[in-house]
Amino acid sequence: MIGGGVTGATVAVIGGGVIGASVAYHLAARGVRDVVVLDRAPRAGEGSTGRATGGFRVQFATAVNVRLSLLAREKLRRFTDETGGYCGFIPAGYLWIARNEAELAALRSALELQRANGVDDAVEVDADAIARLNPALRREEIAGGTYCASDGFVAPLKILDGYRRAAERLGVRFVWDADVIGLRRGRDGRITAVCTASGELSVGNVVNAAGAWAAHVASLAGVALPVTPLRRQVAVTVPTAVLPQTMPMTIYAGDGFHLRVRDGRVLLLLPTAGAADAFDVNVDPGWIDAVERIARARVPCLTGVVIDRAACWAGLYEMSPDGHAIIGTARSVPNLYFANGASGHGVMHAPALGQLLAEIVVDGAATSLDVSALRPDRFADLGAQRACELL
Ligand SMILES: Cc1cc2nc3c(=O)[nH]c(=O)nc-3n(C[C@H](O)[C@H](O)[C@H](O)COP(=O)(O)OP(=O)(O)OC[C@H]3O[C@@H](n4cnc5c(N)ncnc54)[C@H](O)[C@@H]3O)c2cc1C
Repeated sequence: MIGGGVTGATVAVIGGGVIGASVAYHLAARGVRDVVVLDRAPRAGEGSTGRATGGFRVQFATAVNVRLSLLAREKLRRFTDETGGYCGFIPAGYLWIARNEAELAALRSALELQRANGVDDAVEVDADAIARLNPALRREEIAGGTYCASDGFVAPLKILDGYRRAAERLGVRFVWDADVIGLRRGRDGRITAVCTASGELSVGNVVNAAGAWAAHVASLAGVALPVTPLRRQVAVTVPTAVLPQTMPMTIYAGDGFHLRVRDGRVLLLLPTAGAADAFDVNVDPGWIDAVERIARARVPCLTGVVIDRAACWAGLYEMSPDGHAIIGTARSVPNLYFANGASGHGVMHAPALGQLLAEIVVDGAATSLDVSALRPDRFADLGAQRACELL
């Protein structure tokens, strides 16, 4: 047996990253008594959560993501009161840059949607305003942008830590070095036990919170979950003071190049299609050269600021087919719940996703937000992947 005595009512959360910890905390806070988090890593933060750069924004282009962010922001603002932890929320702002009219039109349309969904402080900014918000950017080619002052940064590992400690105080057990290798199902299709190398745990419900590895965990129950890993690389400069710590996150709408200052270094990101081996988290030296060239062209003061190649890192996004989270139950395995596919927004949305998933487990439906757009079977409805019919 894992973690001592077990009852059939145990909720096993597979994955102890920021989402698993948030789910576990919110379940316990809702009065669920027997919650166990199983993670194959030796300690917390070994998955994607420990590799996130810590951006937070409400500036999304779909209503459900805007609303998830608003719920998460409200929870982050009272994170210490709720959990006793510290989430490191710094509203340094998020500045989107358009370099042509088409990009600006897309940002305007997203802004309209944000305002219709309750965002009251995101605004369109012209080139002059952008120069005031981030004077380091080369002005040529900037057509305009959008800005939200209350967006900014959070501390991913501190959010994980806050939820984990609060969950433990409510009686949740976190078991490390617990690689889930099987999910035993009964005649009615429900999962009855979670199997690891060191034993089996009888369970009443299972939550899949395995991040980029969620598809494998779902497959253990015979369910095809369309979550795929996507490498994201981060280039890190040597310590420098050329850009202020208070600089807003600055992101170019066209190619997703973005930069922020963290711990006295500049972090540079440029999305790519990912590695040949989808789980590869090595940093491609050619990619570093490319992102360095772009950074110097768009942010001239970075010319001469060297990339610290040893400090660069990569991690995995957990992509769903439409880039939105998957939250709810599996149609064919009703006691298997998904908190998956956050598609690179999992840290900022973890406070909301944990609360919503706990509501689904306890009440049978999410009550604080309509998340029907995120239901697992939407991919079957769309006919996106035949295998998803299993959902
Ligand atoms: C470079 C980079 C930058 C990012 N920047 C941001 C950002 O600015 N803002 C933001 O919101 N998000 C960002 N993200 C995304 C964010 O990191 C993820 O969305 C988030 O961490 C997902 O949390 P999680 O708990 O689902 O996954 P994870 O933290 O990966 O946790 C999953 C856990 O499951 C465990 N596990 C897997 N399989 C098994 C198994 N079979 N048995 C037991 N345990 C298992 C793993 O060990 C792991 O600990 C970034 C990601 C990367 C890589």
